[in-house]
Amino acid sequence: MKVKNLREILKQEPAVNLLKLSLQKNRLSHAYLFTGPKGVGKETTAWAFLFHLFCEKDKENPCGECKACKKIEKEIHPDIRILYPEKKEITIGQIRETIYFLRYRPLEAEYKIILIKEADKINLEAGNALLKSLEEPPLYAIFILISENFSKLLPTIVSRSQIVRFRSLPTEVIKEFLKKKYLFEEKVAETLAEISFGSIGKAVTIAEKGILEELNSFVKAGFSNSPLKRFKVAERFSGFLPEVLDEFFYVLSIWVWRSYLKEKIDYPYPQAFPEETFKGDPYLAIRTIYEVKNALDFYVNQELAFYHLLNTLF
Ligand SMILES: [Zn+2]
Repeated sequence: MKVKNLREILKQEPAVNLLKLSLQKNRLSHAYLFTGPKGVGKETTAWAFLFHLFCEKDKENPCGECKACKKIEKEIHPDIRILYPEKKEITIGQIRETIYFLRYRPLEAEYKIILIKEADKINLEAGNALLKSLEEPPLYAIFILISENFSKLLPTIVSRSQIVRFRSLPTEVIKEFLKKKYLFEEKVAETLAEISFGSIGKAVTIAEKGILEELNSFVKAGFSNSPLKRFKVAERFSGFLPEVLDEFFYVLSIWVWRSYLKEKIDYPYPQAFPEETFKGDPYLAIRTIYEVKNALDFYVNQELAFYHLLNTLF
């Protein structure tokens, strides 16, 4: 379910106020650039903004039930076009289709929206084509560009956009959100918030994919010294999808580092991390993790890669 009201966006007051004001005064820009760290609510806010723009019943408090709201929820509204990198880039072909999409008036709403995710992946040729339509947009066109790194965008695109800045969230906010939404106990919510460094998106991904539990089973197998147990875990891990593995390697690296800090300077250790701490050289361990992660990108046998990782780290 999408967030349908800008009021529900967590701790992004400057961004939310700017958007609310442009709605209230009906002074909308033709292009907004949502920028800020990963996982802090940029895309969530963009969708909420669209509910306010399109709701047929109540523009201040979008209803979620009218035809427009339902189509936005399902991402099938004919006046919204979503662009994202195909094969790592947003290409001229995609921008041409967008320009074609903008040639005709909106079908059902007042505006036609072009939502561009990872806008920094627009290649140069596509960027120049996009710029043309930003220079003379039809009255009903609104572009929303989302980017973590707007220094990679063409400066001419940035200068034509209203910049909407998003910031990292305080750990406390993420913790409370996780407790409320997922009913996590205090120490789990706190650990997730702590290791996601202000990114609610990251905390949610780690939580939903059960990465803390996976870390525990991995570490247990490692400390068991039983080749059979290690092999069983390696076998299970070999079935994980790449996005789960990315998060696992991320959390595993943090576990190594935080273990080291605990041992060396008695720095507080995340409460929901495994009881056992890593005892070896953190630099070598993180290098090994990185090598295994890379090897997997080159289609090395996953089972073997994890078995090797367990035998090397423990
Ligand atoms: Zn509605």
